[in-house]
Amino acid sequence: MVILLGLPLIGFFIFAFFYDQQFFLYLSFCLAACTIYLIPVRMKLVSKYAGDELRARDVEEQVNLLEADMKGEQTITESFKKKIVNSSQLKGLTERLSMCLYLEDTSKVLSAEVNKLFGDEDTTVILYLFHSKTGELGLSSSQKGQMQVNIKSKQGDIYDHWLVKTMQPLSIEDTHSDFRFDTDKVETEEARAIRSLISTPLMIGKKALGILRVDSTKENKFGTEDLRFLQTIGDLGAVAIENAQLYERVEKLAIRDSLTGIYLRKYLFDRIPQEITRHRKRKASLAFMMIDLDKFKKYNDDYGHTAGDIVLRTIGMLLADFFDEPGNLVCRYGGEEFCVLLPECSKEKAIELGEAIRKKISMQEIILRRKKTSITISVGIAGFPEDGQDQDELIRKADEALYKAKSSGRNKVCAA
Ligand code: GH3
Ligand code: MG
Ligand code: MG
Repeated sequence: MVILLGLPLIGFFIFAFFYDQQFFLYLSFCLAACTIYLIPVRMKLVSKYAGDELRARDVEEQVNLLEADMKGEQTITESFKKKIVNSSQLKGLTERLSMCLYLEDTSKVLSAEVNKLFGDEDTTVILYLFHSKTGELGLSSSQKGQMQVNIKSKQGDIYDHWLVKTMQPLSIEDTHSDFRFDTDKVETEEARAIRSLISTPLMIGKKALGILRVDSTKENKFGTEDLRFLQTIGDLGAVAIENAQLYERVEKLAIRDSLTGIYLRKYLFDRIPQEITRHRKRKASLAFMMIDLDKFKKYNDDYGHTAGDIVLRTIGMLLADFFDEPGNLVCRYGGEEFCVLLPECSKEKAIELGEAIRKKISMQEIILRRKKTSITISVGIAGFPEDGQDQDELIRKADEALYKAKSSGRNKVCAA
């Protein structure tokens, strides 16, 4: 444009200056005409540029919106992916929990599985359960990596006590900046330096069973999604724990005598063949003891049946307490007869033990109707493998020895 107008203009100037000054007038007229012509052209161009700019801004905005949409879609896809992984993990957890009948197994499986889901070298999973009788919180199991860890706070620390009080899920991003809790107190209670944790109560309806907690030595380890996932696991875990507790209660009722609380004969008959096989393989000795209360009918006649029951309960407790070694089995055989299975025990040792419990019971004062009374027992003992090779033979031999003790004056210990 400059060259197009500029060159002729310079030509005009030179011509006008040297030949005819009137050309200046003509030139001014031309310039004015050009200016008048250029003004609408410029305005058109300006409005065209403004329109282009607006369109560019629109396009930019649309690109931004599309980018934001794509990000949103990506997050949704990620969260769906995570949900699919979580549900397959939950499926595995449910299957493994459903295979556990007893509380101890359920508790171990639950903390081990939660550890697999959240675990790394900084993370510890702890399961606390309320004691069914005392209602106190107690450590049930814990897991860190492949190992069970030793947790100092067996009754829980301040975080667990907060949960017991509120029965609400708890999430702490960083213990150092969470002013709800006095961290100095925690560090004296628990040597592990806990920086973040998530924890959920285990509930069945309104009944609290315990607490499931995951903590870490690193801050900001868990997010809201993690807490939500732990709550879902907690719901599944609570059902499994409740089932295991019910199963154990029912089993206890089925194999324990309601009067004395010790095992029933049915349970003994399950155990003896297993123990005989185990001892035969290991070429070890075991002993079997039959115990019968002396003249108990007269005791019942003199003091009444209810008093007789108290005596039976007292003797049951004394026997369970006296033979309280792991593996020993004390049962109520029936009526006023008891028996004891002593694994890894020679006949000689069993005779010594029989003698000791006989003395202990004969010296035990039993107060009935404000009167001091006492009772004696007769004991028959048989040993495996010397007296019997199977359950029937062993019981028969112990019974014969008991008969011997009775017929030789009672309050005696006789061996087969
Ligand atoms: P022995 O020294 O020969 O064993 O004499 P005993 O009187 O103990 O033996 P016997 O078999 O004649 O009597 C057993 C008694 O035990 C009879 C029965 O009333 C009593 N008895 C059995 N089961 C129970 C029970 O659950 N509660 C009470 N109170 N008594 C029971
Ligand atoms: Mg009897
Ligand atoms: Mg008797």
